Amino acid sequence: MGKINILSQETIDKIAAGEVVERPASVAKELIENSIDAGATAISVEIKGGGIEYLRITDNGVGIEKDQIPVAFLRHSTSKIKDAEDLNNVHSLGFRGEALSSISAVSKVELITKTKDNLLGASYIIEGAKEVSLSDVGAPDGTTFIIRQLFYNTPARKKFLKAESTEGSYVFDVVEHLALSHPEISFKLIINGKEKLMTSGNGSLSDTIYQIYGRQIAANILDISYEDELFSITGYIGLSVIARGNRAFEHFFVNDRYIKSNNLSRACEEGYYGFLMGHQYPFFVLNIDCIDGAVDVNVHPTKQEVRFENESKVCEILTKAINSRLRRREDVVEAKVEE
Ligand code: ADP
Ligand code: MG
Repeated sequence: MGKINILSQETIDKIAAGEVVERPASVAKELIENSIDAGATAISVEIKGGGIEYLRITDNGVGIEKDQIPVAFLRHSTSKIKDAEDLNNVHSLGFRGEALSSISAVSKVELITKTKDNLLGASYIIEGAKEVSLSDVGAPDGTTFIIRQLFYNTPARKKFLKAESTEGSYVFDVVEHLALSHPEISFKLIINGKEKLMTSGNGSLSDTIYQIYGRQIAANILDISYEDELFSITGYIGLSVIARGNRAFEHFFVNDRYIKSNNLSRACEEGYYGFLMGHQYPFFVLNIDCIDGAVDVNVHPTKQEVRFENESKVCEILTKAINSRLRRREDVVEAKVEE
């Protein structure tokens, strides 16, 4: 095995970066989540070359104070929690303080940010975790991150990226999910100079669904709502006419966080029993809001998995709520036919 080495900070940072930053879409996710946490009401995303060459996120959130900028790029630095106790009731999307340090370890980052209490903004450039410059600059309130040449210093990782168009479509998915989970925020996505997605941010989930998926989908959804003392479920489920051949139309948000869960998916699909043919998957956008402590979001670095205190109960209720809503809809249709 040879001698045991203590790794340099640079190597440690590159290894850690791999857990959070897998591809341009993960950079987009982390930065947009930061914009949401910063109270932005408008977020614009622009990518070129699949987001590998160029990825820009602009928000109108609170901004970062100039003297705080270098701190924000250190590992485990966050303004969102103070101690382990705070982990029990995380109300922000971020809390691990890893994104900025990870992204800056494997790319060239330019940051322009201004808080509303300052007359001037600040410009910061950091490449491969090394600070290049920090200076004053005129800027609007809010924050812009520009990420260039992702993985320029980690060729092994870069090799695993897919075609630019595929990487771009992953970024699209991320923006789509975040827009669905935040109808109160206006999102815009520009890919290679073309506007690909735009939501109004008027707070209405059904309007957001219409703006993302168009008329055919929006005309074939049913609203759903359930509430007990532990959690609530709200959102929209699609009728069988808009079913798909894969799970790409199944969206869960737990306390405003987009998550993936085979168990929850299966529970929802069970709710469609009798309404869908085999190998068809439903459309739905479901918000599951849990009280503090009923769900653990600190399961995985990308935070796309969560652990429910009582998952089987959540599943059971999802199945029932969906099934009874679909039946109610069928009743309405049949009643009309009889008239
Ligand atoms: P985390 O989101 O887990 O706190 P990050 O590394 O993503 O960690 O960000 C570090 C800190 O930088 C945040 O806690 C926040 O204070 C600040 N920050 C990052 N992005 C923004 C932004 N768009 N607007 C305002 N502050 C930001
Ligand atoms: Mg973050």
